[in-house]
Amino acid sequence: MNKALYNPLDDYRTVFVVDTLCKAASLSKIAQEGLMIKALSKADQSPVTVADFAVQALIGKLIDDAFPGEVLVGEENAETLKTESGSETLGQVVSLLGKEFTDTTNGKVCEWIDRGSGQPTSQFWTLDPVDGTKGFLRRDQFAIALAWIVSGVVELGGIACPSLDLGGEGGPGAIFVARRGRGSWVCKADKISEIRPIRVSSILDPAMARVLRSVESAHTNEDQFEKVIQQLKIVAPPVCMDSQAKYGMLAIGKAELLLRLLPSSSLGYREKIWDQAAGAIVLEEAGGRITDLFGEKLDFSQGITLDRNQGVVASNSYMHEAVLEILKEQGFKN
Ligand code: AMP
Ligand code: MG
Repeated sequence: MNKALYNPLDDYRTVFVVDTLCKAASLSKIAQEGLMIKALSKADQSPVTVADFAVQALIGKLIDDAFPGEVLVGEENAETLKTESGSETLGQVVSLLGKEFTDTTNGKVCEWIDRGSGQPTSQFWTLDPVDGTKGFLRRDQFAIALAWIVSGVVELGGIACPSLDLGGEGGPGAIFVARRGRGSWVCKADKISEIRPIRVSSILDPAMARVLRSVESAHTNEDQFEKVIQQLKIVAPPVCMDSQAKYGMLAIGKAELLLRLLPSSSLGYREKIWDQAAGAIVLEEAGGRITDLFGEKLDFSQGITLDRNQGVVASNSYMHEAVLEILKEQGFKN
């Protein structure tokens, strides 16, 4: 297949991902602008908002309509919404979804959200309805990430970044999408027909890298991060950004390197598939490379966590080996 001749808008599943992410991005912005951003706390103390539930309900319903019977593994579930403390949030989710679907009820919304309670199998979708919820609450970057995994391989993925400004007309908002072996593309939510292929930057020298990291210090190891930056002689100060928007930045050539080091407080942390799958394919199909800290490929065949991988190194590919070498010297051994 000649990549240059391939039109992503000719492929039914790819179009589904782009259309769905456009609708979800708009819903998330309405929730954010409508000040529906009060957060509830999940069991692990991480925040969850009306937008997380509304986006999962929307995408759960759309997948059910377009691909009945296909499995969805989403980050959220409707449990708290069914309790007394969740009833106000449920009311807000119902009112948001009611604008999209006339048959919206409390019960249906919970059903659509719980459509995402599937378990990984030979072929399934995975969804992070609001990746970077803390960024969403700060009104910084966040992403909606949807990927389709077949036999442990990410075959299709898209990331909506409603607050990411890539310049040009019409304000912020970018939708990235990639299909295995076919390429990676970006468009604006209101201009899908102007979708265009994207490519990583061609900078070779690690010292010239623009580096991305999480905003949350608990999601990386700041001391080790500083040491790696110094050893690579990187000149530009790192950019802190929430969510898989970071993978969009790498894929479009606006950054060269991303490091997710293991926080000393949670060395045993293993990434969730919905936090990496869509970002990984968008980056790889744009010519980039993504591995764990030891250079191992991310293994999406292990259930909902990347049990066989520790941390993440993502790059424009050209400087990947040099970075892995420095990590090895720093004592990241397996
Ligand atoms: P980021 O915006 O890059 O900080 O990534 C946000 C994601 O980090 C969230 O969706 C969480 O699932 C994930 N996360 C939660 N705890 C940790 C941790 N200890 N280390 C790395 N990532 C984490
Ligand atoms: Mg997430």
